[in-house]
Amino acid sequence: RWAYVNGRYLPHRQAVVHVEDRGFQFADGVYEVVTLLDGRFADLDGHMERLGRSLTELRMGWPADPRVVTMIARELVRRNRVVNGSLYIQVTRGVAPRDFKFPADTPPTLVITVKRVAAFAKPAQLEKGVAVVTVPDIRWGRRDIKTVGLLAPVLAKQQAAESGAYEAWLIDPDGTVTEGSSSNAWIVTRDGTLVTREPSEKILNGITRLSLLRLARERGIPVEERSFTVEDALAAREAFLSSAGTFALPVTRIDGKPVGEGGPGPVTMALRQAYLDYVAGRASR
Ligand code: PLP
Repeated sequence: RWAYVNGRYLPHRQAVVHVEDRGFQFADGVYEVVTLLDGRFADLDGHMERLGRSLTELRMGWPADPRVVTMIARELVRRNRVVNGSLYIQVTRGVAPRDFKFPADTPPTLVITVKRVAAFAKPAQLEKGVAVVTVPDIRWGRRDIKTVGLLAPVLAKQQAAESGAYEAWLIDPDGTVTEGSSSNAWIVTRDGTLVTREPSEKILNGITRLSLLRLARERGIPVEERSFTVEDALAAREAFLSSAGTFALPVTRIDGKPVGEGGPGPVTMALRQAYLDYVAGRASR
């Protein structure tokens, strides 16, 4: 297995960064995760565009031209012979003696890894849906930037796992659901409207989210980008979550209470299929 670190393809075991890397000391870096489905990157352009935006927000430049980063990613996938998997790209502000201020003239650290994924969802997750638990959203104020500062989501996901749930839905102080610890949150209301929170500094604007919104609109599904509460979700017909690695995944229990009929809903499953068809370059059924 191979990884890429600052200009070199290395055996995965030997792929290391320096102890004074600012990603390690300050979480001063950004990342992207891109799914590889049957040899194709899902929404690669969207992910690269968002990486550029995250870099800009942190006042960092690209470690190399985005086309070169893409080329390295493709080469890494080839070397690892991965057909279905997950690509991870991380850029930090580089290695410098520990000091909060930006270092001068320090090149960024670019790390790219890829791993195989046997199945993007377990059969039971598609047949029964997944459970989520709600957790107060204690993250910082710029969740629109995909930074490697992920302590709050780590704690939230651990809490979910310890409760036997798949994901944590994070609750804003105003009582609305912001998003999942590593996914966006959606509901389908009783009247069939697809609802997901509007993009703002309170959520990461998911690339999968954007594609699902477009696919839904193309199919004539009424869409509203607005916040919703857990009570709205429990009163809804369907709920689901989305991310690069899960596409659209049905959510059928929230804090132990069933959503809708308690099983995966038709809108969720149709959107999941539409996304898979779109990535595969197939016309949708
Ligand atoms: N929201 C958060 C906080 C995330 O970490 C992620 C992805 O990991 C998402 C949403 C979903 O974004 P995407 O669809 O681009 O993977």
